[in-house]
Amino acid sequence: MGTNLRAVDTFVDMGASVTMATGLYHAAQLTGDHRPIIASIGDSTFLHSGLVPLINAVHTNARFVLLILDNHTTAMTGAQPTAANDYTADGGPATRVSIVGLVQACGVRFVHSADPYDQEPFAALLREAEAFTRQPDGGPAVIVADRPCILYDSTPVDAHPVPVVVTADCDGCRYCVEAFECPALVLRADRTRVDIDASICVDCGQCIDACYKGFIVPRLALDGPVVGVPVVAAGVA
Ligand code: SF4
Ligand code: SF4
Repeated sequence: MGTNLRAVDTFVDMGASVTMATGLYHAAQLTGDHRPIIASIGDSTFLHSGLVPLINAVHTNARFVLLILDNHTTAMTGAQPTAANDYTADGGPATRVSIVGLVQACGVRFVHSADPYDQEPFAALLREAEAFTRQPDGGPAVIVADRPCILYDSTPVDAHPVPVVVTADCDGCRYCVEAFECPALVLRADRTRVDIDASICVDCGQCIDACYKGFIVPRLALDGPVVGVPVVAAGVA
């Protein structure tokens, strides 16, 4: 849920992010604190308890960026469908409800859907959304981060695999393990370096920027073998 990814400052309950962001904005207006406010909420939770607070945010002209993390399923509780899926829990047909359409119906004027795996364009969209919240005629901005859970639908990753390696330069600083937390990044037992557990790595390539020193690289970008990189990590019991 991001609490341990060095990415989240507050955490209360399902759907509370939108109400907290609204309250934080209005409180900050009183104190003159103009830091950006970012809220995140899952697709299922948004459909259950995010709509009403979003209406309130629009109505009270709160300014923050809301990220709806749309993984196309209810991953936390067992991959049940949401109202945005076209099937019911028993496999029957269902009418798909549009998350973007609902956001627009709440009165949000900045709403975009984008794939967070396209990291640079997604970061640019985040900056654009934040700028919208600061415009005199702006308001809350919503981005739907549209990428299916890998356990639910691996099609996008399968279509564009990006195998990666950790180079021999890795010094075991643990930053990628602690701040990015892909379970396939494994610190060796002697803490000297990180390896990639090939048994669970899905070749998504998203960890390349997780090493700010540039030691996680696409395998195809390397000339020749990488010294000291094992195929499967140690330390997996
Ligand atoms: S890959 Fe980079 S971030 Fe990860 S432990 Fe090695 S040096 Fe640190
Ligand atoms: S390529 Fe994807 S699954 Fe493999 S280690 Fe990197 S982030 Fe994890």
